[in-house]
Amino acid sequence: MTAIVWFRRDLRLNDNPALVRALAGHTSVVPVFCLDDRLLSGRHRCAPRAAFLRGCLLELDRRLATLGSGLVVLSGRPEAALPRLAARLNAEETFAAADVSPFSRRRDNATALALRSAGSALRLQPGVFAVDDLSALRTGAGGPYSVFTHFHRRWLREPRRTVLPAPDALPALPSSVQASGVPGFGEALAHARFQAGEAAGRASMFEFTKSGVGNYAELHDAVGRPGTSRLSPYLHLGCISPRELESLLPDGTGGTAARRQLCWRDFYAHVLLHNPGNARAEQQEHLRGRVAWVGSVQLFDAWRTGQTGYPLVDAGMRELARTGYMHNRARLVVGSFLVKDLGIDWRWGERWFMRTLLDGDEANNNGNWQWIASVGVDPQPPSRRMFNPVLQQRRFDPDGTYVRLNVPELREVPNEYLAEPWMMPDGIQRAARCRIGVDYPAPIVDHAQARREAIARYARAREARQVMLPARHPPSAVDRPADRSRA
Ligand SMILES: Cc1cc2nc3c(=O)[nH]c(=O)nc-3n(C[C@H](O)[C@H](O)[C@H](O)COP(=O)(O)OP(=O)(O)OC[C@H]3O[C@@H](n4cnc5c(N)ncnc54)[C@H](O)[C@@H]3O)c2cc1C
Repeated sequence: MTAIVWFRRDLRLNDNPALVRALAGHTSVVPVFCLDDRLLSGRHRCAPRAAFLRGCLLELDRRLATLGSGLVVLSGRPEAALPRLAARLNAEETFAAADVSPFSRRRDNATALALRSAGSALRLQPGVFAVDDLSALRTGAGGPYSVFTHFHRRWLREPRRTVLPAPDALPALPSSVQASGVPGFGEALAHARFQAGEAAGRASMFEFTKSGVGNYAELHDAVGRPGTSRLSPYLHLGCISPRELESLLPDGTGGTAARRQLCWRDFYAHVLLHNPGNARAEQQEHLRGRVAWVGSVQLFDAWRTGQTGYPLVDAGMRELARTGYMHNRARLVVGSFLVKDLGIDWRWGERWFMRTLLDGDEANNNGNWQWIASVGVDPQPPSRRMFNPVLQQRRFDPDGTYVRLNVPELREVPNEYLAEPWMMPDGIQRAARCRIGVDYPAPIVDHAQARREAIARYARAREARQVMLPARHPPSAVDRPADRSRA
């Protein structure tokens, strides 16, 4: 009896329910990855993430080989490639970890149908989230959640399954298939800060849960301190299991705060599962298509290249460019700045993040962008989620470690002026070798003025009876017309 294990966002051997289920009922198990062109060239394409994915697949292949098996990499769409393999192997069942994005659900429906015609049943298993069945979490009225605190309370009560150990050995591949090796793609070097694969992910997970988590509650917002887990790229591709991570979190304030943060990941997956339209449009119906966004490519370019003149915003955007990662506090500040201060459509920022983040994840990214744009679930008045970049810097990077690391031209600026370098007198600018408007830009907008305009923009949207034309598509740096039909 043969089964296929179709790896997607569960690139690991530990706590992998799809793999364990396949091994439990079959003497022959064939591990497969489908190199779908939509992953590499669709609207969410990202060269560093592709390189990270390739590194994860290489390691998975090596680990499978050590246990007596190997990874079969198929090229093309899974709905075409998998049924051909299933028919060749006579594989009655194909196991995979269920996912939530509209793209993955369409793909899985199409693949399930095609597999059925080839005599194989697609069996979706848990493994991508901390809770096994996100659709089972329902409000008292029986609907999906849209308020995080209520979801969190319910999520904590949901029973968890036991963490599954990695297998000690695997059946050899049948003679009709061969471990094909992982072909070259995503050749751009993955950012060195994140070593790809399950082993590196587990090492970081143990380090965090044994020592780092102790200070998580106090330090997770301090952008210049190593206060968070940096596990998001590994969670995104499933090199580590969110269920296992949660099981390792200790009791106490640090563990409780980290568990709550992990719950946000399940929350946004739950939200996208129940609101697939959010992938393109605002969750808040009364704001959908009604906010008059500013379609300025010039302002957007200043934002994405870290040239806004606001040091914390520029530090965040440059950290992203340099490492493929950005601290959560900085993501909040740059997100608020793009949408509220510059008035640019949140979808431009969402798309840019998907193109650049190693952890770029449709549910998390979309949910957070809608949150910061005040158009998503859990709505609050727009002014509540409008961050003052100067005050945020003074509070979360008081000694300037983060800004100086990421914006070298500000390195010698005294602390006193670091959050507002444009206030430096000429003599201090010269001494700090940072002339505003020459070495570092003057602010591209005035925050106080931009704040007033943002509040007015949202007020007009709320009052608008007629649907306004949405801002035009993201500029060419983010998108090209041909991309629009892609995944
Ligand atoms: C505008 C914006 C866009 C974002 N886009 C993404 C994205 O594409 N992918 C992504 O994984 N996260 C995204 N986040 C959430 C968050 O910033 C990252 O998950 C976090 O910074 C990752 O760092 P960490 O692993 O050290 O997090 P930790 O603080 O150590 O948290 C542990 C894990 O909890 C989860 N988590 C923490 N905060 C959040 C959150 N606010 N929402 C959802 N999950 C969370 C992540 O899986 C994270 O790895 C975004 C946040 C904002 C404000």
